[in-house]
Amino acid sequence: MAFDSTVDLHTHTTASDGTLAPAALVARAAAQGVRLLAVTDHDTVAGVDEAVAAARRHGVRLLAGVEISVTWERRTLHVLGLRIDPAHPSLERGLTAQAARRTARAEAIAARLARAGVADALAGARRWAGDGLIARPHFARYLVESGHAGDVADAFRRFLRHGRPGHVVDEWATLETAIGWIADAGGVAALAHPLRYGFTNAWRRRATAAFQQAGGGALEVVTGGAGHGDVESAAALARRFGLAASVGSDFHEPGHPWRELGRLRPLPGDMTPVWRCWEGDKKSGTGHLKVVK
Ligand code: AMP
Ligand code: MN
Ligand code: MN
Ligand code: MN
Repeated sequence: MAFDSTVDLHTHTTASDGTLAPAALVARAAAQGVRLLAVTDHDTVAGVDEAVAAARRHGVRLLAGVEISVTWERRTLHVLGLRIDPAHPSLERGLTAQAARRTARAEAIAARLARAGVADALAGARRWAGDGLIARPHFARYLVESGHAGDVADAFRRFLRHGRPGHVVDEWATLETAIGWIADAGGVAALAHPLRYGFTNAWRRRATAAFQQAGGGALEVVTGGAGHGDVESAAALARRFGLAASVGSDFHEPGHPWRELGRLRPLPGDMTPVWRCWEGDKKSGTGHLKVVK
């Protein structure tokens, strides 16, 4: 299987639930052959400055990004904001609100876990989050550490997933609101990992239509670990709704069997790569962008 390693537009650092600091992530991406990289932490741009500085040292082109959690039809979608101005006030206000929701949710998760017999989960998860924004993987790591689960996947299965004792109903920004922040910050919104929401085909089409109608410009057609059939399914969705195509590993940590930086299948030849939007654009920071369709 040949991989195209030059572009990776979906990665996480210690600013959210990744395990590499931004500079270490950029170094690893450069070593893997990535030339165009986006750092897209959950609901925060706190890792961007360090990544930009490291990218300069490594000769990697770095796009500021974010992965915003969205509530649509009582379900959670992940919307990537690519090539945003990370300091834009509208985006900054929005992400501050998302961070407050994460804090409140973490308290609710910990309260539910306490009732299920797991003590001190908030402090435990916060230790794993460090300076980063708190996310469910931090609870999962604490559940493993405290002997309540065998590994992170087991912790999700037993405690954190829908219907389990540590699950709380998410209340994130709406699709329109989140895409609005991204547009205000001059970025392109890309719907992340369209095949990983557990949707039927009909629901997947509904979600993609709603995303496109709300101003979304791209779909993550190639995602980490996707097989040929997955890429074709996602490509068909992008074609159907006239969306540009993004590619991203969704890298969180070294050692994952299939989610490695730059280990991505090539895009089908007829797709419009989302980075086409930025070709010939000499500005490195802000500026409003038009998606080429
Ligand atoms: P949150 O945004 O706080 O709800 O956390 C979502 C993150 O948890 C995702 O971005 C993944 O990194 C991770 N995650 C979700 N489901 C699982 C799972 N079943 N096993 C391992 N990690 C998961
Ligand atoms: Mn994550
Ligand atoms: Mn995601
Ligand atoms: Mn992600």
